[in-house]
Amino acid sequence: MVSRPLGTIVDLANRLWPPALAEEWDNPGLALGSLDAEISRILLAVDVTPSVLEEARASECQLILTHHPSLFRQAGTLRQDSWPGGLLSRAAEERIALFSAHTNADAAEDGVNDALALALGLSQTHPLHPVKPQDRTGIGRRGILSRPAPLVQVAHDLARALPGTAAGILVQGCPDRPIRSVTLCSGSGADFLSDPAVRLSDLYVTSDLKHHEALDVRSAGELGLRAPALICVSHWAGESLWLTRAAAAISRETGIECILSAQRTDPWDFRVGDGDGE
Ligand SMILES: [Zn+2]
Repeated sequence: MVSRPLGTIVDLANRLWPPALAEEWDNPGLALGSLDAEISRILLAVDVTPSVLEEARASECQLILTHHPSLFRQAGTLRQDSWPGGLLSRAAEERIALFSAHTNADAAEDGVNDALALALGLSQTHPLHPVKPQDRTGIGRRGILSRPAPLVQVAHDLARALPGTAAGILVQGCPDRPIRSVTLCSGSGADFLSDPAVRLSDLYVTSDLKHHEALDVRSAGELGLRAPALICVSHWAGESLWLTRAAAAISRETGIECILSAQRTDPWDFRVGDGDGE
């Protein structure tokens, strides 16, 4: 079994998803662990939860690599009877290291946004907001469907590419609307709804859209203004696509075994009432 020091994996991760690309408010990187600890198996997940931690323990992983940082919210305390401090103290007891690549992995080439763009079948992709002009890194992505398709088909195709969740995929727009230009932002992308590139695209794909944010777009369209169709996917499902690519990159470079978490960390368990009267 191949093993490497944690420091080697951190160096590789920092090359793949440079910390300099992270947003100012973000807190990615190594949250727990020692750089000289030997790592022979890595569990990859979107989030660290107690069930993900238990999965890592049961499958004898010494490192959990996630998209979302485990110290994103201020822990304040490591008391076992607190959240999220209790999770961190349990990981420390199990000697399982925690590392995350968050907005740096969103912005990086072949990162989280590119994985979603790939699932949508986009070509000629480039960042919505490149770090530098012509740069391949930056937040969000824009691209085109090589063959325009009706909105309903784009939504169905994307649903097939994503893991299932209780809420499924929400779509705003006429099902027959032809879609060619697409903008997207993995995770919570409501901030870009007023972005001219988003407004001018046929479709915007993101997660976590609230009532007023989504209704404003529809109302603008009803008023005759330029407005994209919307697809709102599960935050977890949309970002989980990146894990396969991240695992492949780490295995290829280090030979270390990488396991994709079987845990669905979308927070919803079931749905009732589909609005169709059944
Ligand atoms: Zn996210």
